[in-house]
Amino acid sequence: MRARACIKCKEYVIIHANNPLNQNKIDNFERIHHLHTLITVDLEEIKDQYQIIKNNGSKDPSNETNHSQDFLNKIY
Ligand SMILES: [Zn+2]
Repeated sequence: MRARACIKCKEYVIIHANNPLNQNKIDNFERIHHLHTLITVDLEEIKDQYQIIKNNGSKDPSNETNHSQDFLNKIY
């Protein structure tokens, strides 16, 4: 499985080919991160370090392995 990921924010969305709703989600993700560095990678390469973005745009609370990012979120 492939994912679209932002290196700066350490966030990603999973790419589901032939799914129009997923395409909207990816478009939205790319819009949010268009000034950042976006990559397309195999999900296995990033899932342990990056946070998944769900359909509603929020982070998955069960995937808070990135504690430094969580720390920054609390400051700002
Ligand atoms: Zn970003």
